[in-house]
Amino acid sequence: MRKVGVIGLGLIGGSFAISMREQYEGVELIGLDVSESHRNQALDLGWIDAAYDVKELNMLKTCDMVFLAVPVTVICELIGKVLDIVDDHTLVVDAGSTKQEICRVVKDHPKRAQFLACHPIAGTEFSGPKAAIKELFAQKIQILCEFDKTRADLAHNALAVFEGMQMEIRYMDPVMHDKHLAYVSHLSHISSFMLGKTVMQLEPDEKNIFDMAGSGFESTVRLAKSSPEMWAPIFVQNKENVIDSLERYIDNLQQFKENLIEENEAFIRAEMKDINSIKSILNRIPTNNKSQ
Ligand code: NAD
Repeated sequence: MRKVGVIGLGLIGGSFAISMREQYEGVELIGLDVSESHRNQALDLGWIDAAYDVKELNMLKTCDMVFLAVPVTVICELIGKVLDIVDDHTLVVDAGSTKQEICRVVKDHPKRAQFLACHPIAGTEFSGPKAAIKELFAQKIQILCEFDKTRADLAHNALAVFEGMQMEIRYMDPVMHDKHLAYVSHLSHISSFMLGKTVMQLEPDEKNIFDMAGSGFESTVRLAKSSPEMWAPIFVQNKENVIDSLERYIDNLQQFKENLIEENEAFIRAEMKDINSIKSILNRIPTNNKSQ
């Protein structure tokens, strides 16, 4: 890789740029973002060599690889325009947290074979250029969707990049991807946001939250610090799966509440004992894969 373009200079785009700098000596990295302050921060942090407004997509023409790390709705808006502009040797990759709509939008593009749909299972609750982390992707899962639709030479280049970052590759259908992610990721974020909201409603005095919240509250509500600009489009784009998972969750909360009203301690105890089995599942997740 001699020239790489990154669209979206936040946590994911920045962490990708840092990894590319480490992996490919002398690589030229250019960054595009709608935010002037993010462009300036990325330049100051030194992980890109030049920054442009996102309107200047023509700057990406000769890149060997273009990485899209903007909100999922923006990926859908930009992906066709990027493919229109780039040379035949350019690999275009996205990092969006949903996959079905992105794969649908690009389906009939004449340069579909230059695109690879990805989702790195790596992140934190922080956003923007200063949140970018060296080795964010190391030992993390990289989900690749519709891999067989990407031209063989470009697919090979993509694997070399991700394996160079020590990522573990998984292949998944975009429909199954969005279904699974609704349960394991999107629902956790909604439940964390709503827990934060409930506690703030019940405890309008910030000092009480500060004094009495234990580490249990802090760890459960951590995801409520996440960026609304990034997450709102994910929930809307994966609406059907997210609603299914929310309905199941609300039923469980309702059942818990009804048993509590009845003081049915035996039910509550048995229910919690069953759910304790999640310990053995969580213990099997490698430590450095425990991100968002
Ligand atoms: P972020 O908020 O840290 O960065 C997003 C960047 O995109 C910002 O610099 C913002 O200014 C820029 N941007 C927003 N709208 C734009 C537009 N119209 N044109 C150009 N730039 C624009 O977000 P992030 O966490 O880096 O997420 C980026 C992508 O990666 C999203 O698609 C997200 O779903 C995906 N993703 C995020 C995580 C995570 O945990 N944060 C994990 C995996 C994948």
